[in-house]
Amino acid sequence: MKILPVINYNIHLLPVQKQQQFRRESTLSTSFLSAGTFYTCPVNFAGASNNLQVQLLNLDGVHCPCCGEAMISTSKTGEILKKASRAKSLTDYAGILVQNKEYFHKKYHPLINSINGLAKKAPEKTIPEALQIVRNGSFKIVIGAMHKQGHYLNELLETEKLSASDQIKIKSFADYLNNITLIPKKKEYDEKFHETFDNLDSADKKKFAYLVNNSIMSAYNCRGVLFYDKEQLNGLSPQTFIVKRMLDFSQNTLKKIFINRPDNNGGNNILICGECAPRYKTFNFIRNAPYAKERLEQYAQDISNAINENKLSGNNGYIYDFIKAANVPGKNLLKMSNVSGITQSKIFYERKRNYIFEQYEGIPCASCGIETITHDQKVKLFNEIKKCENVYELKNLVKINENHIPSDFRKLVKRFNAIIDKNPDISESEVMEYLQKAGKEDLSKHMLKVCEKIKTFVDNNNFNFVEKEIINDFIFWVKQECVDMPYGQEFHYSNYNKMIEDTLGTLHNSNRAKLIDMAKTRLKEVYMEDYILHPPAELAKQAGGILKSMMQNVFKLTVITVDHTEALAAGGADEYFNKTGYCKFCNIQKGKKPLEVWAAQHPEINKNLPKHLKYISGIIKREHMKEMYDYPEKAARQAIRLARGKIHIPTDYDTRD
Ligand SMILES: [Zn+2]
Ligand SMILES: [Zn+2]
Repeated sequence: MKILPVINYNIHLLPVQKQQQFRRESTLSTSFLSAGTFYTCPVNFAGASNNLQVQLLNLDGVHCPCCGEAMISTSKTGEILKKASRAKSLTDYAGILVQNKEYFHKKYHPLINSINGLAKKAPEKTIPEALQIVRNGSFKIVIGAMHKQGHYLNELLETEKLSASDQIKIKSFADYLNNITLIPKKKEYDEKFHETFDNLDSADKKKFAYLVNNSIMSAYNCRGVLFYDKEQLNGLSPQTFIVKRMLDFSQNTLKKIFINRPDNNGGNNILICGECAPRYKTFNFIRNAPYAKERLEQYAQDISNAINENKLSGNNGYIYDFIKAANVPGKNLLKMSNVSGITQSKIFYERKRNYIFEQYEGIPCASCGIETITHDQKVKLFNEIKKCENVYELKNLVKINENHIPSDFRKLVKRFNAIIDKNPDISESEVMEYLQKAGKEDLSKHMLKVCEKIKTFVDNNNFNFVEKEIINDFIFWVKQECVDMPYGQEFHYSNYNKMIEDTLGTLHNSNRAKLIDMAKTRLKEVYMEDYILHPPAELAKQAGGILKSMMQNVFKLTVITVDHTEALAAGGADEYFNKTGYCKFCNIQKGKKPLEVWAAQHPEINKNLPKHLKYISGIIKREHMKEMYDYPEKAARQAIRLARGKIHIPTDYDTRD
C-alpha cells in the first residue's frame, strides 16, 4: 500500500458560492441534495460537509433502527434511477437491480429475483414485455408467502405450548392460508387475520402475529409496485417508476431523537427508512419495536463504520450522543462497547487534537521536514504491516513508505534491509535478535562516548576532589548499566535521568549545566531507538509479532501532531495561529522546550517551517478555507517572535484563491 498525499485523491467540491448557498438551504430543506454529489474525498474539509445532517443523509447502506432494512441516500437513489432509466436491454435492467439489491427493501427481493430470472431465461424480451410477464405471474409471490406462513403456523402448533382454543384458531388460520389458490382481497385477508390473532390467549400472540402478517403484507406490497395508474407515472417511464417506488421505502430520512430539542443540535438526529418514518413519533417507536436491541446495535455499528471511513468527520462524537439517547433508565439497549475500538480511538484523537490540518495528508513536519501521515493512514499502515506474510513482504512495504521514516530510524531500517538481503532464509525472530544486538552496540558506543567526553571535560576544568568523585560515580554507573548492558536488557530512560539528577545534579559548580547537557546529548533519540526495539509483549501480540510491532513503531512517530508554538502552560493561546504541525517524533523530543531553545538546536527548522507553511497555504487555497487565509502569515510571525532571533523565515504566503 502506498500512502498518497491528499492531492492524489479525486476531489469534487462545489464552488464557494454554491457551498454558501447550500449551507443556507440545507437547514431549511434537503431537496438541494439531489442536485448532485459534492463530497467524494475521504478527508474532511471545513465547509458545508461538516454539517452533521448533510453527512448523515449522504450515508448509504445504514440499517434502519426500526425495521433493520438498509437505507439509501437521495443522491444514490438518483444515481440508480438514472441508470435504470437508461437501461436499453432486459439484461442491463436486471443487472442494475441485482447490483444494488442491498438498497432495496427485502420485501422487493422476490420481484428483483423474478426480473433477473426472466433476463437469464429470455434475454431477448424487451423491458416492457418482461414487466408484463412478471406482473402476470406476481400472484405467485403473495400466494407463496401465504403458503409459507401457513407452514410456519403448523410448525408453531407442534413446538409451542398453546391452549386448546388457541390451537383451534391457529389451525383454522393455517388451513385458510395453505388452501389459498387465488389472491384474496387485502380486506378479506385482514379480517380473517384479526379474527384469529386478536383473540388468542397466548402471551406471545403479538410476536406470532407480527411474524405472519409482516411477511404477507410485504408480499402484497411487493406485488403492488407493479400495478399503477398512468397518471401516477408523472412523466417517468414504467421501468424507472417501478424502481423509484421500491426505493422510496429505503429512502433515509432524518428524525429528531428528542422532539423538543433543536434539529441541528449535534446528536439529536437519527436516520430512519422511508417506510418507518411516517409512523415515527418519538424515540419510543424504535425502543419498543421488535428486535430493538439488535437493530440499534446494527445502527451503531453502521455509524461506527461511517466514522472509520471518514464520512462523519468533524461529527464523530455523534455516536456517543446517539447511544446516550438510545438508553433510558432501566432500559439500556446500547453500550459504549458497541462502538469499535478503532472508532473510539479515532473519536478520542479528534476531540483531543483540535487542529484542523491534522486530517490532511502529506504535510511536511515543520521541524524535520518529513512527510507526515494522518492518524487514519497510520491505522491503515498498521494493518498492512500486520498482514505481511514474511520478511520480504514487510521489507517491500517499508520500502514503499520509506519517505515516512523519521531520519533517526533510517539507520535501523537500512540494517533491516541489509540483513534480509544477506540472509534470504532468515526468520522474523532472527532479524529481530540481530537488530536488537546491533542497537545495543550502538547504545554502548554512544554511552562510552558520553563518558569519555565528560572525562575530558573534567580533566580540562576545575573540579574539586568531592566533585570529581561524584562525576566518577556517574561514569561508573553508566558504564555498568548502559555500556556493558547485557543483551535483552532495556535501556531505562527514567533511571538514567534519575542518576543524572542524583549525581551531576547535586554539583555546586558553574559547569554543572554543561555536564548535564553532555550526559543528555541525543538522549531521547537513543532512548527511542532502544524503546522501539523492545515492544511490550501485548503490543507485539496485537501486531502479529515483535518485528512487526517494531516496524509499526517506526512509522507511529511520523503521525502529524499539533504543537503550541507558545506553550499553553506559558500562557500561549489555544488559537489557530499559535498551532504548528510537527511529526510526533519531533514533538516528543521538543517536549516543553521553548521554541527559542529548540530552534537553536535544530537550525533546519529555518528551511522546513516555510516548507510546512507553504504546503498548508496550498490546502487553504484549494479548500477555499476563507477563515484560515491569514494562518500561514500569523503562524510565521508567531514563530519568529518566540524564537527570538533563532528563526528567519518569510512571512508572506499565497493563500487566496
Ligand atoms: Zn425502517
Ligand atoms: Zn519532524
